[in-house]
Amino acid sequence: MLEVSSRESAQKKVLEYAEVALPIPLRNVFTYRVPPELVASLNTGMRIAVSFHGRKLAGIVVGLRADPPPGIKRVVTIAGLLDSEPVFPDELFSFMCDAARYYYHPLGEVLRAGCPALPRDALNRLQASGFLSKAETIPGRRVSKRTVRWVRRTTQPIEKLKLGNRQRGVLEALALDREVRESTLRTVVPDPRSVVRRLAKLGLVQVFERDPWFVPVDQLQGDVVSAPALNPAQSHALERLMSAEGPKSFLLHGVTGSGKTEVYLRFIHTIVEQGRGALVLVPEIALTPQLVSRFRHRFGDRIAVVHSALTESERDQAWRSLRSGSVRIAIGVRSALFAPIHNLGVIIVDEEHDPSFKQDDGFRYHARDMALLRAKRAQAVCILGSATPSIETYELARSGRIELLEMPDRATDHALPSVEIVDLRRHRAGPTGHRLLSGRLHQRLSECLAAKEQAILFLNRRGFAPSVLCEECGHVPGCPACSVALTAHQGGSRLVCHYCDHTTRLPRRCSQCGAAPLNPLGLGTEQLAEGLARAFPDARVGRLDRDTAVSEGVEQVLQRMRSRELDILVGTQMVTKGHDLPGVTLVGVVQADQGIHFPDFRASERTFQQLAQVAGRAGRGTLSGRVVFQTFQPEHFAVRAAALHDYLGFFQREVEMRRELGYPPSSRLAAVWVDAGAEDVARRVIEKLARVARRHTQTSGAGVQLLGPAAAPIARVRGRYRFRMLLRSPSRQELRAVVHSIVHAIDGGISPARAVVDIDPVSML
Ligand code: ADP
Ligand code: ZN
Repeated sequence: MLEVSSRESAQKKVLEYAEVALPIPLRNVFTYRVPPELVASLNTGMRIAVSFHGRKLAGIVVGLRADPPPGIKRVVTIAGLLDSEPVFPDELFSFMCDAARYYYHPLGEVLRAGCPALPRDALNRLQASGFLSKAETIPGRRVSKRTVRWVRRTTQPIEKLKLGNRQRGVLEALALDREVRESTLRTVVPDPRSVVRRLAKLGLVQVFERDPWFVPVDQLQGDVVSAPALNPAQSHALERLMSAEGPKSFLLHGVTGSGKTEVYLRFIHTIVEQGRGALVLVPEIALTPQLVSRFRHRFGDRIAVVHSALTESERDQAWRSLRSGSVRIAIGVRSALFAPIHNLGVIIVDEEHDPSFKQDDGFRYHARDMALLRAKRAQAVCILGSATPSIETYELARSGRIELLEMPDRATDHALPSVEIVDLRRHRAGPTGHRLLSGRLHQRLSECLAAKEQAILFLNRRGFAPSVLCEECGHVPGCPACSVALTAHQGGSRLVCHYCDHTTRLPRRCSQCGAAPLNPLGLGTEQLAEGLARAFPDARVGRLDRDTAVSEGVEQVLQRMRSRELDILVGTQMVTKGHDLPGVTLVGVVQADQGIHFPDFRASERTFQQLAQVAGRAGRGTLSGRVVFQTFQPEHFAVRAAALHDYLGFFQREVEMRRELGYPPSSRLAAVWVDAGAEDVARRVIEKLARVARRHTQTSGAGVQLLGPAAAPIARVRGRYRFRMLLRSPSRQELRAVVHSIVHAIDGGISPARAVVDIDPVSML
């Protein structure tokens, strides 16, 4: 009798309290009371409306409990239910909770970023109940950080358009960057919103929220194109993928043009046949139009393309079709990691080495690392694909934690192009007289043009020149708000800060000594393109960098290249991405060692990857390719290995160096960044956090090492002083224990400074 009644009372214990994650920058969850009428219907993963210190918010229920946590006196009651079923698939929900925990990011913000808009009827009910007044709504997905992008829907040059000064001012500010936060345009015009609205009406700009989600780009049906027969390496890779039972991860290491995409397409096909879903992450949609169109051609409109220009409703529509399973394939940039794919079967991270998979503000996650985790949670296969895998990923494969699939040869008949190294210390300038256009490169370009073939020249510096110099006193004009030199643009007539977009005209005289004029120093893509046009007057020279991506559009520039309207394409790292331009037989790298001395332990790796990738653009069609690396450091192992197409040689040397220096993958890193408007405030806070770290690194015994604190390599950005310290340890647990104490100290309050913790940081600047 007794036993039964106690069990009955246990069953009767109602789960009257909900733990709620709120979309606010606080790392804890909050307890609310569940009103009796919702007890039966409320579940984990649903959104609810609550008031929080006078604000009305949409939170997500992350747990239910019978009693309030001890010590809580007054518990507020939930105002209403916003969803009738959990927002996310279970797998995704628990993955997001893990991701928030891993990166120490507020759970409510992580969850909200992935939510669809609030249902209208739920909002109506809250208005009827009086929780919301008539016109009021609750901030749904995220606080909108509206950004503006200049699009070119009109073919007229801007000089010809009838625009007011303010509109012209906004367009000029936009021309320099791909995407600008609307609020920063206040430095140009007092009320950017109205000016932007007018420009949008004229079809000149597009407004969207930062980091937006799902866009069915075009409703193009696409002819379903039949697939080529696989070669033996592809068949082998596909067999291994098909043999995976349960969660399993792979590195597909295939040289540029080895046919990795074909393997993805085949595998996705079988996954979809099984009634499961596929997620494909790519570095940047704008740079991979070909990849997207290949998917379209194979799968027609059965895919949602996820990128950054959209309306809220388009995004929501795609979100819902994925959630319901009516669309099974999503292809998109890093934020697509949180796409609500129904019954997820595979996640593919293409070009997994690309640094853009790491988000560097707000929620600082790495989409590649998290893809591995999500796939595991979802019992899905994860494929990381690259011709130049990151050192971390290749190490995972080498140590057997993920399976290595190799495709060492190109799928077409052509071998990888031969690479010629030009030693800039010995070679004289070519006919142009410019040191960075050697006689040899000049000659190769002439041959290429004479044969009516195409060339790509890679120079990772946009603008006319990286800086300008007063040759009387040596002064280099810098940004007033950032500790960097201003870059010369538009033939040197304008100076631009590449960090905050501050723009001025080139001053007539030096501000320090009054001498005139100031001269461009160094070479940027703009100047290189001009120089080539002069040196090869019959050649049509195009340019692909952030500036032309805005003024013309990436796809337009690539299309001109494909249709042979251009002979030479000059560009920044944008030209190194996976473009398939069959007419290109010559690739020239203007300065192969350019990034090698960057203050970043991944500098050699990036150099190798960019060189190997750009070299891979040559000879993809029926003609064989040729590559020239100009460099002041011909012996550098990253340059040499890229010239020999020797990934493994590069990896072995680099991973050994990382081991000696104690960098990943031999250790784990966390960075702590502090910034403030006043230098001493920022310094005081980082020193306080460093003391916390030291206390814990000492007591935690073994191996957590503190590097710094020190001023960040770029010590000031947008007027804020920046400091940094790094923590590293071979042991993730020990590192996390120390990071935990720092997070605790940050949560204890450090205003007016700001601090962020960056787990597995990528950007070192
Ligand atoms: P990757 O993604 O490795 O750079 P792609 O999948 O883009 O390589 O393939 C490179 C080129 O080879 C493409 O033009 C593709 O159509 C072609 N290709 C791929 N697989 C085959 C195959 N099995 N037979 C013939 N051509 C192929
Ligand atoms: Zn600046």
